[in-house]
Amino acid sequence: MTRRLSLFGATGSVGQSTLDLVRRDREAWRVGVLTANCDVQELARLAIEFRPDVAVVADESCYGYLKAALAGQGIECAAGAAALVEAAERRADLVMAAIVGTAGLAPTMTALAAGHDVALANKEALVSAGELMTAAARASGATILPVDSEHNAIFQCLAGGRIDQVRRIILTASGGPFRTMSAADMAAVTPAQAVAHPNWSMGAKISVDSATMMNKGLELIEAHHLFPVGLDRIEILVHPQSVIHSLVEYIDCSTLAQLGSPDMRIPIASALAWPQRMATPCAPLDLAAISRLDFEAPDEERFPATALCRAAIAAGGARPAQLNAANEVAVAAFLAGRISFPAIVDTVRRVVDAAEPAAPSSLQDIFSVDTASRAAALRFVEQYEHA
Ligand code: NAD
Ligand code: MG
Repeated sequence: MTRRLSLFGATGSVGQSTLDLVRRDREAWRVGVLTANCDVQELARLAIEFRPDVAVVADESCYGYLKAALAGQGIECAAGAAALVEAAERRADLVMAAIVGTAGLAPTMTALAAGHDVALANKEALVSAGELMTAAARASGATILPVDSEHNAIFQCLAGGRIDQVRRIILTASGGPFRTMSAADMAAVTPAQAVAHPNWSMGAKISVDSATMMNKGLELIEAHHLFPVGLDRIEILVHPQSVIHSLVEYIDCSTLAQLGSPDMRIPIASALAWPQRMATPCAPLDLAAISRLDFEAPDEERFPATALCRAAIAAGGARPAQLNAANEVAVAAFLAGRISFPAIVDTVRRVVDAAEPAAPSSLQDIFSVDTASRAAALRFVEQYEHA
């Protein structure tokens, strides 16, 4: 049976991995929607290959190029934030949410509200609006299928028991490229060093988040919304090889783990095929060749981001949205060479310390906090530049 797929963030790392799987079984999928921010050349190329009903660029200044590139192809073109939301309403059996940042929040919420199952890679959306998003899914009956490798692992391990029988969820972390580096040396690392992840090939933003361990903090918030076992039952364990993607311990002391090569096509395939399985071209695990798996406790002194995230969940309300927005601005500033590596998490801490956002009751409230937090973060970035 052919299933209809809408793919948001088609040109990114997760988007391209998704299309790599779709390409191998064209009979199984009808791609309805493809979107990108402004990499129109690639979007047009993908649109000609996959022939969606509509191709959307978020950046309106790219519309002319897209229209010209797809002239005569019989593929609708659209641009802008409203067009992204409109595309999310279109009929789909599965929506892949693979936009990076809160830019993906509105289309993801729209898809859930419309009752579409969502394969969720876009963790920032869930971090910012977790309560609203899970409530929207409950209200419409939509299923959120986690694509983030750790959450996909937990989701798979949860098939082995009931959620009220879980004693602990253990979220594994690679520790990133600076796992063994001193705090003093981290002060001088460059964007190129930070995006060179030891195990995974990913977009720039999540790669920097992995280096600061903010990624694991965001994942803690993500896990808290997806798997409501209580924050004190979710632990972080550093596991440098990224072979065990996470574990679930039950009340009987049975611990289930999901293992696999560090290849995002494995969790993506799990979400695409759920509740079935599909074949992938990924390398099977060769544990004899790997020979050993290592584990260590996280060091929250050198990597304070996870503690900030834990505090943000405990504070609740719009605190995680505020933290996430500040982090997006700080990561962009680091990648642009404007601030140092340690200034990323410092900026987030300063923004969070400077203002206490009111509890949100709507998506609009989340967007207001997001905007204010970005402005605050930019002010701190400017202070670093002039210090
Ligand atoms: P990426 O930077 O490679 O791709 C991002 C995609 O979003 C691109 O298609 C881009 O055009 C689009 N986009 C960017 N800004 C946009 C905007 N303002 N409006 C609309 N579209 C926009 O990112 P990625 O690494 O593929 O990550 C995507 C999401 O998946 C992130 O939330 C990330 O945390 C999550 N994730 C990624 C991986 C991975 O291995 N890459 C693993 C786990 C989770
Ligand atoms: Mg992850």
